[in-house]
Amino acid sequence: MDTKVVALANQKGGVGKTTTAINFSACLAEKQKKILLVDLDPQANATSGLGLEKGFGSSIFPALLGEVDGQSLIKETGIKNLDIIPSEIDLAGAEIAIARRDDYLHRLKEAMDPIIESGVYDFIVMDCPPSLGILFMNALNIADEVIIPLQCEYLALEGLGVMVDIVNQIRDAGNPKLHISGILMTMYNVNTNLSQQVVQEVVKHFSDRVFETLIPRNVRLSEAPSYGKPIIEYDRHCVGSAAYRNLAKEFLKREKEHEAEGETEELPTLSSVLPVDLSADGTAEPVTE
Ligand code: ATP
Ligand code: MG
Repeated sequence: MDTKVVALANQKGGVGKTTTAINFSACLAEKQKKILLVDLDPQANATSGLGLEKGFGSSIFPALLGEVDGQSLIKETGIKNLDIIPSEIDLAGAEIAIARRDDYLHRLKEAMDPIIESGVYDFIVMDCPPSLGILFMNALNIADEVIIPLQCEYLALEGLGVMVDIVNQIRDAGNPKLHISGILMTMYNVNTNLSQQVVQEVVKHFSDRVFETLIPRNVRLSEAPSYGKPIIEYDRHCVGSAAYRNLAKEFLKREKEHEAEGETEELPTLSSVLPVDLSADGTAEPVTE
């Protein structure tokens, strides 16, 4: 299988991009997929959330400038099948540093192409910063697909139209393989009607593009990063672990269907908006095959 590049993106802050980048990557790795997580956010939360020190002095920045090749920046995370290109705060200067170059929207392509072409990884997962800036555009220019996490809150859809437009523009302007593989509903609160209403609203607009897996609000998911661990290492039996395992499973199933059906076919219809059976005591039943 070729290496597939997946961007986790939403210009809205705090919607669960990084939590998903870490835990989705770890769950794919658990399924024996070889994963490279690329932290494209100067906040470096994916980096620290996987136990690497922030300010380690390493990010994709020098590869964006063409000073080093991307491969030399790959670090091990200590988790089997999961490597990372970390980030640090200095990456905040990258947009200004590359903005004057003619190819400023394709610097990440130059940095990452040798890694993609090497075929070492099944998936490259990119954690994008909360903006529609140059790094985000660079990410979309190399992505095969975008996963958009949406928080189950009022105004979840706000700003989404702009992002969908940009994805379409980048696809039409030279990255024809780019598509939105899924919208992921995060921080679903089982105790409120609001979460369910928001999911229904999003499904109304995006139907089968919405992942059937819902990510519940789960305190263990917010604790895990401070221990530098993905949820499946921090608490492998909690509801957050079950949800991200389900997401990895659903994602891989959709990948297979996408490959079999070709680019023009629609994804399968959403059969239920509540695939993870979230009972009142907070336990979750995994989605059955
Ligand atoms: P930013 O836009 O700043 O990069 P983000 O979209 O990457 O944010 P996260 O950092 O993943 O969002 O999440 C924001 C906050 O919400 C974090 O404190 C995180 O621990 C918490 N959080 C994310 N998902 C969940 C969840 N399912 N349950 C509980 N807390 C969560
Ligand atoms: Mg983040």
